[in-house]
Amino acid sequence: MSRLLEMIEKADTIAVLGHVRPDGDCVGSCLAVCTYIREQYPEKKVQVYLEKPPVKFSYLKHFEEISQSVDDAVSYDLCICLDSADEERLGDFAVYRKEAKASIVLDHHVTNPGYADENQIEDVSSTCELLFGALECDKISRDTAACIYTGIIHDTNVFKNSNTTSRTMQIAGVMMDKGVDFPRIINDSFYRKTYVQNQILGRAVLESVTLLDGMVIFAVVRRKDMDFYGVESSDLDGIVEQLRITDGVEVAIFLYETDNHVFKVSMRSNHYVDVSRVALVFGGGGHVRAAGCTMSGNVHDVLNNLTGYIEEQIKEYKG
Ligand code: AMP
Ligand code: MN
Ligand code: MN
Repeated sequence: MSRLLEMIEKADTIAVLGHVRPDGDCVGSCLAVCTYIREQYPEKKVQVYLEKPPVKFSYLKHFEEISQSVDDAVSYDLCICLDSADEERLGDFAVYRKEAKASIVLDHHVTNPGYADENQIEDVSSTCELLFGALECDKISRDTAACIYTGIIHDTNVFKNSNTTSRTMQIAGVMMDKGVDFPRIINDSFYRKTYVQNQILGRAVLESVTLLDGMVIFAVVRRKDMDFYGVESSDLDGIVEQLRITDGVEVAIFLYETDNHVFKVSMRSNHYVDVSRVALVFGGGGHVRAAGCTMSGNVHDVLNNLTGYIEEQIKEYKG
């Protein structure tokens, strides 16, 4: 039996946490473990806490029961932290981990320092892939499988990122055998965009600039642009990916303003630059080919700081 299941068996009350600005792997892994526990251990109390999750994931079971606020009066026997590279990324819900009698982290970010009592950190495609290995396969229902499949397709960009392995595909195959509606999941949660999402994507790409002989591409969305189009941060998913596939680009950088002069930074690389190293310098983290951090200052300074470290790596590589 996995360490996760051992800990679940010992607990009567369980909190499940992910990271701020939850993505498909985060929502998928949290709802997968919640659904699994509710089906296998109906006597236990389990509650998922996340910042407002994107509605495109509302087809997942128990989506409506996700709590978006902290209740100071409640504490738990066990806290399960999923897909969150460090404690800060648990956001306000970190208090549940601190106060729980026991805690476990399951994560696939190489930069994760391991901040719980038990830490299972492996460099695989997604937290959902890791979670699959910690659950008993024959006890995974179609509802749990839909969560796991969602996480895998989001973190692999539908099986095309270099983090996709034959095991990733095999697990996706097992989820298909469980009966998940995969064309619907892929179309509705990954590819479909609202009109304004397409507009802001177009605007960001239109105004993008290239640097370092076209090896770096950069775009920014400011608060006022987001207000103009009436979009929120989850509507910006996919912009950095569109920048990354530009011919000749090694690194794509996308910024959006979360507060006055505060920017959420997303970076993607294609072949050799390790963007997690760059993100770590600025207090963030992630993976070799996809990483992020939060930086403050004006756009020019933020960009200069980032490109300095990126240029160093490009020079190292080119010799
Ligand atoms: P994003 O660009 O936000 O999609 O993030 C790319 C990858 O880096 C994801 O796996 C994130 O979980 C991770 N990441 C993003 N921002 C941070 C951060 N501030 N700290 C640690 N990891 C991050
Ligand atoms: Mn994530
Ligand atoms: Mn992930």
